[in-house]
Amino acid sequence: MTAHGDPWSAVRGQPAAVAALQAALRRDEVAHAWLLVGPSGLDQPKLARAFAAALNCPDAPAPDRGCGTCSTCDRILRGVHPVVTDLEPEGANHVVAHVREDWIPTATRSLTEGRRQVLRVVAADRMNEAAQNAFLKVLEEPPPSVVWLLDVQEEGALLDTIASRCRRLDLVPWGPRELEAEAAALGIPDEQQAVLARASLGLPQRLRDLADEDVAAARERHLDIVDRLATGGPGVVVSLAKELTTWAKGRAAVVKERHALELAQYEEDFGIDERGRGWPAGMRKRITDRHQRLERREQRRALDLMLDDLASYLRDVLVIGAGGSADQLVNLDAEVAVRRDVERLPPAAAVEGLAAVEACRHALDRNGAPELQVERLLLTLALPIYAHHRAA
Ligand SMILES: [Zn+2]
Repeated sequence: MTAHGDPWSAVRGQPAAVAALQAALRRDEVAHAWLLVGPSGLDQPKLARAFAAALNCPDAPAPDRGCGTCSTCDRILRGVHPVVTDLEPEGANHVVAHVREDWIPTATRSLTEGRRQVLRVVAADRMNEAAQNAFLKVLEEPPPSVVWLLDVQEEGALLDTIASRCRRLDLVPWGPRELEAEAAALGIPDEQQAVLARASLGLPQRLRDLADEDVAAARERHLDIVDRLATGGPGVVVSLAKELTTWAKGRAAVVKERHALELAQYEEDFGIDERGRGWPAGMRKRITDRHQRLERREQRRALDLMLDDLASYLRDVLVIGAGGSADQLVNLDAEVAVRRDVERLPPAAAVEGLAAVEACRHALDRNGAPELQVERLLLTLALPIYAHHRAA
């Protein structure tokens, strides 16, 4: 067991949201549902856990916080206590079957330990309409021991009837000082700290990803995409798409290896024979389904890192193209390349490229095949580059 100190101290960069939650706790007026509006990657899980610790700690030093040291707080803060559950979309959307067969039973189960459950709906704006209508019924008659935290990027995607039943909190991107301190704490080399802090787009989770050397090296390759397209000729699109998606798959391979070990351990525990006999009914499928879901998620996270790199680069091309200065760049280390690519990529093409990045994300949300979707994105970027070349 580790001492965590004041659980709220782990939630950095969100003083307004934390103050609002603490005030509600002190007044014992905790709303049944909260909208947390902001991009993902702002440590939403840490906020949910600190909140759950305050709601459930048996030794709370004050009504607005957990002690951080008891076994309840310890397990909540490590993410292994049943009072905090993350409800993630499986595939493109949260669908009505999830709400009925998973969320509602979870919300209405009687707690074997703890007082109040915190159910965090990840990407709540990806509930489809039927799911929202089913969820609305839960909000209309909220189970008393449940607090919902809805992570939302696009508030407009939710029905007004849902939004109006939630208290709204805005989560804000981290500022440069916080990010640079985090970069130092992550052990990022001195000369890289300011660069990667800026490249993190205000998102501490992205900064932590970039602290991984493999991800940082991949970022440099991603910033070369426009150059590769411009110098490689039309034939490069297919091979480049393959290269980019292979890297993303490779990021999931680490998770896959861990899962293979986990499965082997289960086989040993249950005494499974060589022909795979001895599994309790349905268990092997449940485990492998969960593994595949986590592996897909890891691959998607890597693709998103690539798309964020590319989008920030295109944005930089637009900024410099519009007469902006180097200190406005997101990618401070790519100034020379950006200035060169302003010549290759007219503003309209860069804007179209940005739209293609978002279209690629949406297609991936709908389980589009990564290689094809990335190919399509690269083609959208490449065509105006070649047209421009020929005209020049
Ligand atoms: Zn405690």
